[in-house]
Amino acid sequence: MSYKKLSRRNFFYGIFCSTCSALILPSCAEVPITKRKQLNFYRYNLPIIIPTGGGIPQIYRNEEHLNQVIEKQYAKFINDARSRNILIENTDESRELKEIGYHLSNSINKYYNQLSEPSPVKNFNWEFSLIDAKDNNGNPIKNAWCMPGGKIAFYSGIMPIAKNSDGIASIMGHEIAHAFARHTVEKLTQHSVVSLGTQGILKTDYGNIIAQNPNIYNRILKFGIMLPFSRAMESEADYMGLAFMKMSGFNLNESAEVWKRMMKNSESGPSLEFMSSHPSSKNRINNINNWIQEIEKDYYTV
Ligand SMILES: [Zn+2]
Repeated sequence: MSYKKLSRRNFFYGIFCSTCSALILPSCAEVPITKRKQLNFYRYNLPIIIPTGGGIPQIYRNEEHLNQVIEKQYAKFINDARSRNILIENTDESRELKEIGYHLSNSINKYYNQLSEPSPVKNFNWEFSLIDAKDNNGNPIKNAWCMPGGKIAFYSGIMPIAKNSDGIASIMGHEIAHAFARHTVEKLTQHSVVSLGTQGILKTDYGNIIAQNPNIYNRILKFGIMLPFSRAMESEADYMGLAFMKMSGFNLNESAEVWKRMMKNSESGPSLEFMSSHPSSKNRINNINNWIQEIEKDYYTV
């Protein structure tokens, strides 16, 4: 194993997927690009089942089904934002955001096409929106998020931190990476495993189990979609975000600058929502700086 690979993998301490060995599954799925092992029921044609606190469990049959559910939720979110006049449309900033989002996602597909490999996101229906929302104290919300299947939202408060198109691409690349790497599917699979694991078996009559054990299921997180990602997932998204930036021809160095601005902003100003789920540290910036050289060598602009 080359030093390069070691240095990259070294940081993805989650590669030895302990959950996988505890289950009778052929092997863990592998995340493209980082090769981290990940538990993903959909790779084995298993449904994801999330208890809903004693009621009928939420079942996502397969990735297509999950993405359909998300598509509706996102549409509802957008309609709601529009009706509250906080959806920013047809401004230079909103257009730039969409352009950068589509440029990144198209570049990923092009990159895989050139390798004659199927793009992991070829079936995604990307959407990018800019929201002008304030928190309870009247401060602009500084956040960005991504739902499965490529549904992304930026809040206008994060735009001054992004500052320029390379900065937007840094945050966008990171968000795209969460969808690309199926981080939500992984989280939901883990919840599914935890729930079903309490019974010691995977294949069982889910409805009965839940009816007999309401307390267990009440304690389990009912809906994992908007929960923060793990540190390993965050690091992975940072790494992949840089790779996507390189494929798309953005300036990778700006990525570290964005995180520096995030840190500075959260030290001086009101709470930064993005930072609560994306704890920044010198460590994170150091990792990004270390990875830039590696990415510059390993990837090319399509
Ligand atoms: Zn993230």
